[in-house]
Amino acid sequence: MATPRQKFVCGNWKMFKTTGEARELVRALAPLLQGAAGKVQVAVAPPFTALAAAAEALRGTPVELAAQNCHFEPQGAFTGEVSVPMLADLGVKHCIVGHSERRQLFGETDEGVRKKAAALLRAGLLPIVCVGETLQEREAGRTLEVVSRQVRGALEGLAAADVARLTLAYEPVWAIGTGKTATTAQAQEVHAAARQLLRQLFGAAAEEVRIQYGGSVKPDNAAELMAQPDVDGALVGGASLKAPDFSNIVKGAL
Ligand code: PGA
Repeated sequence: MATPRQKFVCGNWKMFKTTGEARELVRALAPLLQGAAGKVQVAVAPPFTALAAAAEALRGTPVELAAQNCHFEPQGAFTGEVSVPMLADLGVKHCIVGHSERRQLFGETDEGVRKKAAALLRAGLLPIVCVGETLQEREAGRTLEVVSRQVRGALEGLAAADVARLTLAYEPVWAIGTGKTATTAQAQEVHAAARQLLRQLFGAAAEEVRIQYGGSVKPDNAAELMAQPDVDGALVGGASLKAPDFSNIVKGAL
């Protein structure tokens, strides 16, 4: 039998927190997570500008550093972009790619997500690949089709050993920032289908891929969601900006 997957909770701070605020949040968080962070993998994803400050404040804590985006080229004339080696240089370990806000507002495509995931893996960083359907797609009964297309689009062509190291985040667009969380049954259904697809594409590596749920995860729904057999953690937006809420979500994974 495969070893059980360690739960992984990541806070996505989005476009919030100056450097000073980031330091303050990390300092508030670190003592609250003592104990839990050894058993659950925990990361925070500040905006680019606060990564260095957060890295410094995180030193000596078990909390890991994540970024929210990257460019797939290592360097070049790409005004406004940040490369994977630049992130690695700051001590970043994980990077969110394909978040629905980036897909919807900044034109990120499955192809772009795949290039970013591959660049991260090549450099030894760990992608958190986001997928998820819109409300319209769910109502049209197309959830599994959309999620499958996004999973294939982002991962096809990668080596199974690389896929085993990455995290998939199922984030139904209608649940993000809306206070509407997917039910545990809705989450488990999509997570199980995504894992089944990963089995078809990558064989046994599928058992090692952590699949996080994201979309209005709160202290009062986190434990129930993460108790589902294929829900291996959470990608937390709004509630990750408050240290007590985020730490209670992490404890929900214990
Ligand atoms: P939310 O965001 O927790 O505020 O809904 C989740 C996300 O976008 O990752």
